[in-house]
Amino acid sequence: MKTALVYSEKHKLHNDASHPENAERVEAILKAVKDIPLIHLNARKANKDEILKVHSDEYYEYLSKPAFEVIGELTRFNPEVYSGDTYFTDATFEAALYSAGSVLTAIDVIAEGKASNAFALSRPPGHHAEKEEAKGFCFFNNIAIAARYAQSKGFKKVFILDFDAHHGNGTQHIFYEDGSVFYCSTHQWPLYPGTGKADETGEGKGKGFTLNLPLKAGTGSKEYLKLMQEKIISAIDNFKPDIIFVSAGFDAHKDDPLGGLNLDEQCYGKITEMLKKAAEKRCNGKIIFSLEGGYNIKALTRSALEALKELSL
Ligand SMILES: [Zn+2]
Repeated sequence: MKTALVYSEKHKLHNDASHPENAERVEAILKAVKDIPLIHLNARKANKDEILKVHSDEYYEYLSKPAFEVIGELTRFNPEVYSGDTYFTDATFEAALYSAGSVLTAIDVIAEGKASNAFALSRPPGHHAEKEEAKGFCFFNNIAIAARYAQSKGFKKVFILDFDAHHGNGTQHIFYEDGSVFYCSTHQWPLYPGTGKADETGEGKGKGFTLNLPLKAGTGSKEYLKLMQEKIISAIDNFKPDIIFVSAGFDAHKDDPLGGLNLDEQCYGKITEMLKKAAEKRCNGKIIFSLEGGYNIKALTRSALEALKELSL
């Protein structure tokens, strides 16, 4: 079985070359992986119904309007909705629909049995996006939209591992009271966005289905892989998912300018190898990576390359 790499040119519509979350990130990964045997697929666009499984109608409509439209006395650049570090252009909405769509395309191809695993080069990223708030460079929560879509395709129990250096506040909140989606995050603590303490474990029907593993600045590959074996793989084994998603941010790399963790690129290969084994045991190897952060281009491309090499073995 093969690995699908899902991509859309549309990500380039949302770009600010002076911002760490820029189009070069995905273009550099594409160049770096050209010698790996992958099924290259164009991402489809997510439709409104698919987005509304996670976000509100009001928020969808709001994002769909031009960036600087004047509403009453206010321009749309409302600081209550967009945190200061998140840029928005007239083309962001379109790019964000394709970004969410890239993960949906990955699910389609796996559901059809044409690939056993996949990597979606989703950009803009998603895990900080809340139901009604753009945040941390994110607009639609790609992985959450994908989890709901996967459930509609019969993959009822979804396990999400988020190994981005930052906590995926949006994903956690969306599934906090839901026992059908297990959200596990490793992230530097303390760091933006400030959520993700170890005692945040879910509520109601979701109690016990959120697992936060905050890491001290400086945590390295060896310690990370120990945690992977002791906590994360056993959480997957206990949950018995039908599919595994990975919020794959590579900003825990030691050279990343926005994070203070100390992983090397080989660590991402080993993480992927362990996840693959767990997925083979629990869900016929069904595993989908969706790109989140990673802001040192060289570290990002080398890390994604290690993960993709392992996925495609
Ligand atoms: Zn991040």
